[in-house]
Amino acid sequence: MKLLRYFLALAAAAGMVLSCDPVDPTPVTPSDGNNDHVSGITYQLNVYSFADSDGDGWGDIKGITQHLDYLDSLGATSLWLSPVQTSASYHGYDVLDYYSISPKLGTEADFQDLIDKARAKHIDIYMDYVLNHSGRGEWFNAAVSSPSNAYSNYYVLSDNWAADVAAGKIDNYAGATSPGMGSWYSVASGDIGYKGRVHIKVDMNSRTLLVTETTDAIQSPNNSNPECWIWYGSISQHCGLYTTGSKVYEITLDMDTSWGMLVCTSTNWADGTKWGGDGSSLSFGAPFKLNNSTAADITFGGKSIWYFASFDKSMPDLNYGPYAKASESAAFKDLAASADKWINMGVNGLRLDAVIWIYQNQTAANTTFLKQWYDRCNTTYKARGGEGDIYMVGEAWCDSAEQMAPYYKGLPSNFNFYYWYTLKDRILNGKGCDFAKTVMYFRNLFKTNRADFIDAIKLTNHDENRAGSDLGRNKDMMKLAGAVLLTSPGKPFIYQGEELGYWGEKSKGDEYVRTPIKWTANGSVPSRALNGKVDNSMLSAAISVENQAADESSILSVYRKFGQLRNQYKALGINGDITSHPEFNEKSPESLKSAGVWYREYDGQKVLVVHNFGSGEISLTFKNDKLDNMLASNGNVSVFFKENLQMGPYSSAVFLQ
Ligand code: MG
Repeated sequence: MKLLRYFLALAAAAGMVLSCDPVDPTPVTPSDGNNDHVSGITYQLNVYSFADSDGDGWGDIKGITQHLDYLDSLGATSLWLSPVQTSASYHGYDVLDYYSISPKLGTEADFQDLIDKARAKHIDIYMDYVLNHSGRGEWFNAAVSSPSNAYSNYYVLSDNWAADVAAGKIDNYAGATSPGMGSWYSVASGDIGYKGRVHIKVDMNSRTLLVTETTDAIQSPNNSNPECWIWYGSISQHCGLYTTGSKVYEITLDMDTSWGMLVCTSTNWADGTKWGGDGSSLSFGAPFKLNNSTAADITFGGKSIWYFASFDKSMPDLNYGPYAKASESAAFKDLAASADKWINMGVNGLRLDAVIWIYQNQTAANTTFLKQWYDRCNTTYKARGGEGDIYMVGEAWCDSAEQMAPYYKGLPSNFNFYYWYTLKDRILNGKGCDFAKTVMYFRNLFKTNRADFIDAIKLTNHDENRAGSDLGRNKDMMKLAGAVLLTSPGKPFIYQGEELGYWGEKSKGDEYVRTPIKWTANGSVPSRALNGKVDNSMLSAAISVENQAADESSILSVYRKFGQLRNQYKALGINGDITSHPEFNEKSPESLKSAGVWYREYDGQKVLVVHNFGSGEISLTFKNDKLDNMLASNGNVSVFFKENLQMGPYSSAVFLQ
């Protein structure tokens, strides 16, 4: 580089006219809303924390509709919404009703309006569909209420799960003898309450409870500093017992309770003072063993039933029966009918949550299931008149790309977590020379499982540490990561806040990687769903959309520039292939290891992509490529004599060939 500068200085001194000025990148114009899905970019957003239209502190569906121009400015051709169906939690992954929109997020009319207005900008709406488990809503309550209930087959239920697993009766395990992840939980089933006159005797020496039905006269509750209480009926309904011996307490009363009862040796419900059962029901006249560890409700007449949950006891796993015939199961049919509703409203794709756990990490079973699900939804989509095939991407989060690749047998697209693991490593180590080779390795891997695979590349998502944190909050590295993502082959996903340079670590709580968008420099953010768990030190005026939009060198501006470029050049878009450069590749000399160079090509159009993954300046000479039409750049990029390319730290450039 020094030699080149010396030569240029000499030439200038000699009055020579040289075309040595850096080439001005062709200005990128905003999408005209008629991009025909060239970029394939999907923006992943958390509906509850993206934008709040009504000022209630919750992000909502109308908030998205109001910001479609923002999403269009990033070159997005589709949006993946966090679950919008009625759910118990803020994040939505415990759906209570697959057929309704969560009132916290809006109405069905709001959702239809979003679909319609997005479509007008050629932006598709993808729903997050949770098939592995549901929340504990009406389906679950009905399922456990009695074994003969119509919903009992919807869940993985057992009276004796250890025996059922050993006997191979748990379809959810798909032949495996252990689940890999998850636990069995008990829940009271059947007629669990009681109404009638009973005598109660608690013996804390033997820690037993004896309940007998009686016609004896009732006693008033003992309100004179009793040592033992029982709770039943409504939560405020408690009754002090009389001491009739050392640590023995008794009373006769009329009981009316829908859920059962509990024993307590303190009124403050502190741990260890609440005594209950192990999930089984008591029998009148028989001693019932009390414990203060599980302290499950003591129920009358009903029994305990066990259910399996991969993730949490609030999310019981759904049961689709033997995987080869999953589509014939009642749960599949109901879920599919719910998906029909949304697809017929205009939804063009689904993101499927936790697909490796539907059949407990049994790949062949899961892919067999997923193919049935995909085909079912695609039939509806085509009957609706949808263009091409419905898009569907799986969260098949495996330990390696090799383990994930077979999921392409079930779905056309899967998240490539390994893309980010590689990119992060290469940026942190300043090594770009083998990046194209690795990307091509992934693609070949996927191709062997499905010819028309769609590689869903990404940096991070709502379940991972933020890319900004992974990159040590280094803005130049974050810009490079965005530029690489948007010049790579496949279907890039941009996660809410990534384009602004957000950071956040999961160890502080999931909420900290789901931070709301700060739209204006001084405005508030929709953080109510996150219960205020936001990093206010990060949410400065400088990181806001308002400020970054006005700054051509901001992270947002880099995402916009490369996102729009991807929408304008089909070679860069979703159909464009990748090939490595004959000279700058994994065999590059040590001094040029930081250069990540590749071609993208489609339908007669070809571009050269060059990134500097390193912290130092590099100089590359291209003898057989055209550098006279630079379409976009980031960082310090200069072209001399149409063949010498000078790249500053973490810079990027794209040239039309
Ligand atoms: Mg709101």
